Amino acid sequence: MTKPTSPAPAAPAVSAAAHSSNFIRNIIEDDLRSGRHHGRVATRFPPEPNGYLHIGHAKSICLNFGIARDFDGECHMRFDDTNPAKEETEYVDSILDSVRWMGFDWGVHLYFASDYFGQLYAYAEMLVARGDAYVDSLSADDIRAYRGTLTEPGRDSPHRSRTPEENLALFRQMKAGAFADGAHVLRLKLDMRSPNINLRDPVIYRIRHHAHHRTGEAWCIYPLYDYTHALSDALEHITHSVCTLEFEDHRPLYDWFVENLPVPSRPHQYEFARLNLTYAVLSKRKLIALVEGGHVDGWDDPRMPTLVGVRRRGYTPAGMQLFCERIGVSKSDSWIDMSVLEQAIRDDLEAQAPRATAVLAPLKLVIDNLAPDHVEACSAPVHPHHPEMGRREFPLTRELWIEREDFEETPPKGYFRLSPGAQVRLRYGYVVRCTGCDKDSDGRVVAVHCELLPETKSGTPGSDAVKVKGNIHWVSIAHALATEVRLYDRLFAVPHPGAGERDFKLDLNPHSKTTLTAYCEPGLAAAVPEQRFQFERHGYFVADLRDSRPGVPVFNRAVTLKDSWTKN
Ligand code: ATP
Ligand code: MG
Repeated sequence: MTKPTSPAPAAPAVSAAAHSSNFIRNIIEDDLRSGRHHGRVATRFPPEPNGYLHIGHAKSICLNFGIARDFDGECHMRFDDTNPAKEETEYVDSILDSVRWMGFDWGVHLYFASDYFGQLYAYAEMLVARGDAYVDSLSADDIRAYRGTLTEPGRDSPHRSRTPEENLALFRQMKAGAFADGAHVLRLKLDMRSPNINLRDPVIYRIRHHAHHRTGEAWCIYPLYDYTHALSDALEHITHSVCTLEFEDHRPLYDWFVENLPVPSRPHQYEFARLNLTYAVLSKRKLIALVEGGHVDGWDDPRMPTLVGVRRRGYTPAGMQLFCERIGVSKSDSWIDMSVLEQAIRDDLEAQAPRATAVLAPLKLVIDNLAPDHVEACSAPVHPHHPEMGRREFPLTRELWIEREDFEETPPKGYFRLSPGAQVRLRYGYVVRCTGCDKDSDGRVVAVHCELLPETKSGTPGSDAVKVKGNIHWVSIAHALATEVRLYDRLFAVPHPGAGERDFKLDLNPHSKTTLTAYCEPGLAAAVPEQRFQFERHGYFVADLRDSRPGVPVFNRAVTLKDSWTKN
């Protein structure tokens, strides 16, 4: 392994919000000042390719790649692929895609721990030859029993006293495939009485007769996480190895490997608090259970907290980066409220999403003083604050769809929309006066009638002479694009799914998905997959990546316009 010398990764396509400082950045600044690591900054993002990335990973991605970006360093994309039974190329591809989608680029620094299997094995032989590691033949259960507990010291394995020669012979036979899974393991010879359980002769190699997604049948022994991780960092000249707090107690072991093997660099591990998000679960194990149990429509279901899921949901990379900036990085565990994520997405979309009209719960409005064949162009700004984004056009005709909730036969106090005798503005069109409604035999309103007031067309001189308090959106029935719209709510009904011993699946929100047919302004037929819009009054929507067809986009609601969960 030679020292990576390639240029830093390219700047991300998405501009991040100005980063706020955090304790890890402070450490790096100190290290740069003191000349530690010779002024280099190299971080890494090391997922195991055994599932799809989730929002928790986004925090780690933004932290690691963000540091590389801001300190002119490099961030390595490294797959920690040491468990052949659980890992698949499909996950590798999806993870790479998600990191790229988040706006980051590893440049030439794409690595796989499995690329180091040869070197890791050579180091292990050194440990064995030196008497620092031994082959143990206890069963997995016995190893656990001998390990002791937090309050009881462990006991030495009867095989701990094997000679280096015996160990080397056995270890080589393990590698050669002479033994079945579980027959032997290689353990570090540290201290079975250490108060830190991680130092009680940790297992560093195990036998696993299973094809590996990259090395195929080449190996039947595989190194374990702690060993592989520390050494991969050192081999890649990582300077700051940032991981979540649960690895704090593993740091002495990390340091042991780095200090006791002839590795080419001295990385250091730092721990930060993982992201916990309310109304969500962020654990691959639980996410797998949701997919396999059919509780969601796959990994990229827009309700899933996976990065492929939030992407389909319409969340933006910049919004995700903004969220990660806002939550910061600290050393104490806490819960972040889902509304913080939703607000970041809203704030990002508000500034850029083109506006459009969609009627989600249609009721017919008939303008009785327009001819049946009347078609008149109306227009509106694509974005109210960005005139440079241009205008959009849509036709006004005699029959329109309006929202059912925009008519009340007997309006409650303070209701400013349509009711018999009331006047409202058809947004970007004319003021109309309501003249009555038609009902079916059950008394249900099936159409509303009105008259258009001439000289009130939006944007024409004197159009605002008639003052109205209500402003409603509409689409021409003859021209509307009828298409599927999915409204999503939080996947879980409670902030802490599975709290206590409870099965987290019992906390699923049964109303997390509503599918309906909406009537959209005709221009939306040209929406391309992943194009995002604000549907006025309804929130931010995205043309679904998977189900949209040319001319017939299907829309997913990313987020409502306001936080509807916080009580006011
Ligand atoms: P899970 O707990 O979901 O199985 P993991 O930690 O096993 O996740 P890895 O693939 O090992 O997943 O994670 C890759 C990197 O992402 C690690 O550095 C890990 O610390 C980090 N990471 C995982 N979950 C979170 C989280 N909730 N918040 C912040 N970082 C996380
Ligand atoms: Mg893990």
